[in-house]
Amino acid sequence: METEIIKIGQDCVSSEDEKGLMRAGEILRMGGLVAFPTETVYGLGGNALNPEVSVKIYAAKGRPLDNPLIIHINKFEDIYQIVKEMPEAAVKIGEAFWPGPLTMILYKAEKVPYETTGGLDTVAVRFPSHPAARKLIEYGGGFVAAPSANASGKPSPTRAKHVVEDMDGRIEMIVDGGEVGIGVESTIIDMTVEPPRILRPGYITQEMLERVLGEVAIDVTMMRDDSGEAPRAPGMKYRHYAPSGSLVIVEGEPGQVADYINAQADLDNKAGEKTGILGTREQLEQYHADVIKCIGSREDEAAVARNLFAALREFDEEKVTKIYSESFPTQGLGQAIMNRLLKAAGHCVVKV
Ligand code: AMP
Ligand code: MG
Repeated sequence: METEIIKIGQDCVSSEDEKGLMRAGEILRMGGLVAFPTETVYGLGGNALNPEVSVKIYAAKGRPLDNPLIIHINKFEDIYQIVKEMPEAAVKIGEAFWPGPLTMILYKAEKVPYETTGGLDTVAVRFPSHPAARKLIEYGGGFVAAPSANASGKPSPTRAKHVVEDMDGRIEMIVDGGEVGIGVESTIIDMTVEPPRILRPGYITQEMLERVLGEVAIDVTMMRDDSGEAPRAPGMKYRHYAPSGSLVIVEGEPGQVADYINAQADLDNKAGEKTGILGTREQLEQYHADVIKCIGSREDEAAVARNLFAALREFDEEKVTKIYSESFPTQGLGQAIMNRLLKAAGHCVVKV
């Protein structure tokens, strides 16, 4: 299949943008697949209410069939069509954080096919804020299933070129809206349990949710995998976001982290490996390896989140086989950053 790529402006206000998005919406209504920017990462969209389309999404990504999709809406009230009941607490967080990078899990209405929910009686719903995403959802019929637009297991796409790498020839269209703003996927909160439980940390932090809801639980399997608990979100059990090379997170005092990483990289180089280091600006000068990537300043968590997936993909481009990364504190947005990094590393952490 030939994949058409269209470019749109950041706020997509020109008539060209409008025409392009209408055409993209038409593709969705005809049962085709369109990748598009959201405020978090690029999504791979298809009509969420058509079971055959959901099956096509899984196939394009190479995604296991029991890893459910998130349904994207463009109007708050549309959620009532796809959920069985809407608890008061869900209304509250919708009013507080939508449109925005928050996904709620609720019991599904009958019209949501099991193909979209990976066989579950619950459905994940998100109302994004990105202007292009919102228009596309509207033109595409109002209910767009959209997992991240990466091949299953790879880092999520934060630029259109990442989508091209993974999806060219597999979907009808890619809407190129430039680099996304947030860079890690939406926060997922399960509203079918008491207290509500975060299944995936994201830009909307536990603290922000607690301010609206009171107590909010977070799964221990998010930050560690030695808890012995079964993962609650089906997607949590799969290795994710992973570069081709092995990734090790090194935790400790900055000087010792640098000493350890440099010594390991030396050994790896002698063994014929190509080495890479993912570090923050404050510590970058201390490192030596074949490829050194700056993920941003330690003081600027938003930049770290925004750059993380792109940096992991760049190591692949440069064919790095052994990667070492600094570790990050796990408060606020740091929870999302460390969750993605731990998954990318297959939870391989060295404490020095
Ligand atoms: P992605 O859109 O690729 O970032 O993946 C969507 C994530 O949402 C997956 O990890 C799913 O496990 C999670 N998800 C979607 N629907 C549900 C659901 N009904 N219950 C729990 N998790 C869900
Ligand atoms: Mg994903």
